[in-house]
Amino acid sequence: MVKARLFDFKKFVVFVFCLHALLGCADELSRTLDRSEDVVISNVEIAVLEDDQVTEKDNETFFEEPVVLPVHLGPLLAPQKKEATNASSYSIGSYFPVLSDDAVASDSAVSASSSQSQPLLETAEPWSPAIVSFLDAPIDRESKYVNPLTKPEQSHESSKKEVVPAKKLAVDSHPKMPRIAILIDDLGYNRQGMDSSLMLPTEVALAILPSTPFATQTALTAQKQKRITLLHAPMENQRELKLGPGGLYAKMTEHELKATLSKDLDGLPGIQGVNNHMGSLLTTKADSMKWVMETLKGRSLFFIDSLTSPKSVAKKTAQEYGLDTVSRDVFLDNIRTEQAIDKQFSRLLKLARQHGSALAIGHPYPETMAYLKKRLNHLEQDGVRLVRLSDLLTTSPSVLTPSEQ
Ligand SMILES: [Zn+2]
Repeated sequence: MVKARLFDFKKFVVFVFCLHALLGCADELSRTLDRSEDVVISNVEIAVLEDDQVTEKDNETFFEEPVVLPVHLGPLLAPQKKEATNASSYSIGSYFPVLSDDAVASDSAVSASSSQSQPLLETAEPWSPAIVSFLDAPIDRESKYVNPLTKPEQSHESSKKEVVPAKKLAVDSHPKMPRIAILIDDLGYNRQGMDSSLMLPTEVALAILPSTPFATQTALTAQKQKRITLLHAPMENQRELKLGPGGLYAKMTEHELKATLSKDLDGLPGIQGVNNHMGSLLTTKADSMKWVMETLKGRSLFFIDSLTSPKSVAKKTAQEYGLDTVSRDVFLDNIRTEQAIDKQFSRLLKLARQHGSALAIGHPYPETMAYLKKRLNHLEQDGVRLVRLSDLLTTSPSVLTPSEQ
């Protein structure tokens, strides 16, 4: 019995030992499994982190802006830029609101470059120390970058007004007495007008309406006087006033207009140029003016724009065709009184003094003829010289606009 119990005890001890060993293995196995799971989790986390990094790498602005912007905006701005990088939305313009044009320029440079994945420094303007008077500089998001140190005087305002008037250049090249020229047009219908205008100084030019009773006689007499004569070409007006013979109309085809104008020109001997009679409609028509200038170009004639419409393209078209040309500055006798004509004449002198020269157009009215006969005799005391119309001709742009009459 005792041996049997001892045997049983040994078996029990062995059983317990084995059981313990078995449990220990199981525990070890369990720990091993737990650890491997840790490793797997860790790998997943690493993978997730790497994915994040890949995502950030794809968004290159996060990486490139801090590198580029401090170089562009200056070393002092670098720490502030890092804060801004963490913000969900980032704008240099709002972040540095006082940087004005410079900031705007850099803003556009950054966004443009980052979107194209190009090195930002190539497109960004070189940085210069910020001594700019930011308070004075208008914030203009459209304006181009201007280095404030190298060009401090070139402001937004001053860059606009660099147009040099052609007539002022003419004054500079002839720094003498201001010049005036006078053209009397609407000639041809009456003898009195012809006679009185031919009595004026020979510097005064005459423009003759085509196919009128005294047209040829006026032209021939003027030619003998070596006076400049023009065809006063009737052109369609907006008030539908009658043009008389040889009129040019907007509805005319190229052939009709050129044929009519050529006939007008052929009927007047010795003319040197043309100006428009009325024409407040036709002178605004680009095609019609083109055909007129083509005809004059073929005959080496000059063109005077009587300027009966502020929208006239006549002079501009003449210039495009390389014709000698000039615009009328003053109408002398829209009001036919001595006082009104004198006022206009004073205006002519004023413009001549301002611009170096000025052109007046008058008509063969008795009032105008009487005034000019008297006034042109003592012009020297006004410090102004009466010149031939040809002296005012130029192919350069004129400073006067139609609104100045
Ligand atoms: Zn006229």
